[in-house]
Amino acid sequence: MYCQIEDTDNLPVKSSLDDLGIFGGVPLFPERLHVGRPNVCNQSELLAGIRDVLESRWLTNNGPQVQEFERRIAGISGVRHCVAMCNATTALQIAIRAANLTGEVIVPSFTFVASAHALQWQGIRPVFCDIDNNFCLDPERVEELITPRTTGIIGVHLWGQTCNVEALTAICRRHHLTLLFDAAHAFGCSRDGVMVGGFGRAEVFSFHATKFVSTFEGGAVVTDDGEFADSCRAIRNFGFSGEDEVSGLGINGKMNEIEAVMGLVSLDHMDEIITTNRNNYLEYRKGLDGIPGVTLIKYEENNRNNYQYIVIEIEEDARIGRDMLHTLLQTEGILARRYFYPGCHRMEPYRSLYPGAEQHLPRTERACAQMLCLPTGMAIGREQIRAICALLRFVVENGTEIQARSKRSLSTVAASGSL
Ligand SMILES: *Cc1c(COP(=O)(O)O)cnc(C)c1O
Repeated sequence: MYCQIEDTDNLPVKSSLDDLGIFGGVPLFPERLHVGRPNVCNQSELLAGIRDVLESRWLTNNGPQVQEFERRIAGISGVRHCVAMCNATTALQIAIRAANLTGEVIVPSFTFVASAHALQWQGIRPVFCDIDNNFCLDPERVEELITPRTTGIIGVHLWGQTCNVEALTAICRRHHLTLLFDAAHAFGCSRDGVMVGGFGRAEVFSFHATKFVSTFEGGAVVTDDGEFADSCRAIRNFGFSGEDEVSGLGINGKMNEIEAVMGLVSLDHMDEIITTNRNNYLEYRKGLDGIPGVTLIKYEENNRNNYQYIVIEIEEDARIGRDMLHTLLQTEGILARRYFYPGCHRMEPYRSLYPGAEQHLPRTERACAQMLCLPTGMAIGREQIRAICALLRFVVENGTEIQARSKRSLSTVAASGSL
């Protein structure tokens, strides 16, 4: 059996403002619920696999577990080649090098900062582009950012929702640019019936502990291009192309055998994780229905998804602001995350290097101010989701009063001199 927690009955229902954590009430979840709590699927299978690795004394350097993991990932994603790496950030950097990107590369700002860092780390300027209704790179905004220095585009399949691959592919063809995808969120997802993995020149998965399938730390470059895969393999291993032959600059980007074992166990239980995530999503969808100003990001039922992210949008006219709601949930032990606040363009070094970027990013700015990710995964049960939704409904419906009262209590504290 795997490790989904038992439903806990009788979670307290909050029905007056005094019950709320920010006004001194007892937190709804004293044990705290996290976004991206790692799924540990089957400890005994994992430990047995680790024991086998230790006995074999083949701990790393493209061992049999890594090779098997690569075969399985390629198979599930419908691509010819998978090159497993120590993490997705390194995998992105290696893919960027293998593609010979230089100068400027167009990338969204509404993403995890690693998408931009992977470029800047190699002296390439990330040119931030706005997003479409799907929270992914907007093809209509991409072309105006292309300059003679542009060499490529990196799309991010955010929360497993895929980029407009067709439009981006057409732009890259027209301008002779290389198209890569940061698919860190999108392993196990599809676009119009085609699995993520084979789009663009290459795609990059993350298998970090907080992601859907985990190798503790890990990532991979997947591609149908054999030569590209060979370049990535060489760069991953210091540039070695033979026992004593180094054919170019490389780094150590290898995944080790124990990480691969974790990944293989995770893959064996992948369907259970998806089922749990999907049930959680459906429970949230039911529980959040009709809360004024709150919308749940919908997954298209005709595509495969890993349902790893429960994302809500707090609209401008909602009775409570996103940041206030975030604070309020924290004090209830619900550790919701403001993915992706404040946006790469408002983080260093980008804020200082490329000031004024926000002027071209109105949708990004809005998303950074309005989106919130809620806890899900195997560590959370149906009753907890119901309690979270009931709390959300209560605080949004009473949002105006809550904001007024919290302002009042803050000014009282300030007046009494204790701030
Ligand atoms: C997690 C993540 C990464 C980085 O992955 P690591 O494996 O932790 O290096 C890159 N891009 C996005 C969009 C991510 O969410």
